Amino acid sequence: MRVEAEIMDAAGETLMEKKTMKAIAVIAGKANSVHLREVPMPSVDDVPGGRGVLVKILRVGVDGTDKEINAAEYGAAPEGGDFLILGHECFGRVESLGPNVTAVRPGDYCAITVRRPGSSLYDLIGTNDMTTDDTYFERGINMRHGFLTEYIVDDEEFIVRVPEGLKGAGVLMEPVSVVEKGIAQAYEIQRRLRVWKPRKAAVLGAGTLGLLAAMLLRLRGLDVTVLARTKAPTANSKLVEEIGARYVSTQEKPLRQASAEYGPFDLILEGTGQAALVFEAMEVLARNGVLVMVSVTGGDEKIEIPADRINLGFVLGNKVAVGSVNANREYFEMGAKDLSQAELAYPGWLSKLLTHPVKGLENFEQLMKTLQVAKGAIKVYCEVAEE
Ligand code: BGC
Ligand code: ZN
Repeated sequence: MRVEAEIMDAAGETLMEKKTMKAIAVIAGKANSVHLREVPMPSVDDVPGGRGVLVKILRVGVDGTDKEINAAEYGAAPEGGDFLILGHECFGRVESLGPNVTAVRPGDYCAITVRRPGSSLYDLIGTNDMTTDDTYFERGINMRHGFLTEYIVDDEEFIVRVPEGLKGAGVLMEPVSVVEKGIAQAYEIQRRLRVWKPRKAAVLGAGTLGLLAAMLLRLRGLDVTVLARTKAPTANSKLVEEIGARYVSTQEKPLRQASAEYGPFDLILEGTGQAALVFEAMEVLARNGVLVMVSVTGGDEKIEIPADRINLGFVLGNKVAVGSVNANREYFEMGAKDLSQAELAYPGWLSKLLTHPVKGLENFEQLMKTLQVAKGAIKVYCEVAEE
């Protein structure tokens, strides 16, 4: 933060201080428009009722969503403006509070949830991730500014405390929350079976989401097979094996064959971004199994599928498929607990996911370039500030 301009009166007295800070933004709807800009510094009073929390941003992760927003595939600016501050994977430290905040204290580490309430019944009970509204509000994605800036103010409702011991891996809070939700939803749905005891799981994709999903499922004691294109050994395949899961390259063994050897899978999580895989997963899913879909696919791909066979398998096998997007604070809280458990169960493992730090908001071009081209990148993130 700095005082950018001081407007002086004739006597040389400061009449107004205009405090600004840096932010990485795009012009919504304009491809490759990512840029650095100065924006007003927020204040705890921006949130009514004394519930404002000022957070100093430390690290912000980027993912395919940021890439696609910068490619103008989607993403919208807050009403009344043309730019959108990027960044939805946030880790920071509480700096100051409004008078009525009770959940956090200055100095606490925290993550911040992404979605903001709309008007459906689900939004009214704090489950914005389940909104049925046509428009959804997401910080850094749709109609709300994101976290790739120096300071953020938000309502304490959206600030999630992160234990001190997790500060190294705190930037994984948002991605892990998304996976926590998908898996929690699967277990919730499977209560229909009264005695569901899943033994085998498959995770499609070995990027950040796939690796975190494999880790969460290993913590639950499942036999986990992770399928991804690239042949082992890679950093990702090693990370899979380090937590006692199995890595399979689909170039060597397609899903159907992996299922015959290591399945049938009671739970499959699809997070590759390739929608076609969803239908293959439907075919091999175990009887009474559950398929969780978490890929946000903005394209328009069309494929032929064996509709009768998939339908028959679902009907005769009492199978379920569920889509899952975003995560409310409940899943962030689960994420904090499971990341803590992961640090104990697999010491040092989480930090190996943090492959590509880019220092400083001003290096936004390098940040986006790393996201696009870096080979072997798992988590690309911006080191916005030291503590
Ligand atoms: C984010 C989610 C968000 C989704 C859809 C993902 O990249 O991690 O929080 O709900 O995009 O916009
Ligand atoms: Zn994301």
